[in-house]
Amino acid sequence: MKRVLTLPDARLRQKSKPVEVFDARLRTLIEDMQLSMQQGPGGVGLAAPQLGVLLRIAVVDCSLGLHPCKNNGRLLMVNPEIIYQSGKVLGREGCLSVPEWVATVSRSKKVTVRYQDLSGACQEVAATGFEARVIQHELDHLDGVLFIDRVLSVHDLVRRMS
Ligand code: ZN
Repeated sequence: MKRVLTLPDARLRQKSKPVEVFDARLRTLIEDMQLSMQQGPGGVGLAAPQLGVLLRIAVVDCSLGLHPCKNNGRLLMVNPEIIYQSGKVLGREGCLSVPEWVATVSRSKKVTVRYQDLSGACQEVAATGFEARVIQHELDHLDGVLFIDRVLSVHDLVRRMS
């Protein structure tokens, strides 16, 4: 299991590159990501750059949350792209890479994501509510964007109670 990078690590701010090779190394990396995802509170998603690997990979599993919402279970997404989004909704977010803070962030209510699975085959998934939020949060990491960048007002940013 690899350690999850936290701010101010500069790798969290870089744009990740597409995955081109679908091999055993990719599968091992995705296994590491799933283990690391479960390290922290509310660990329902992780992006490869959070482990210092600048590749476009995100794992999401909202069935692991404390209060599981309607979800698609385990999503292992390589080269994911949001191809459809609608609605807007505010919600609370935190991040394993920004451990001390939570914030209210506006996200699309529904998204459809196109991605490649571990064998390189193209897949699509539609998500709503909390799962849609987690997907948008993780895909932001692939462009070096963190949820604190999307906070509209400083009053929406609060220290996590420990
Ligand atoms: Zn995050």
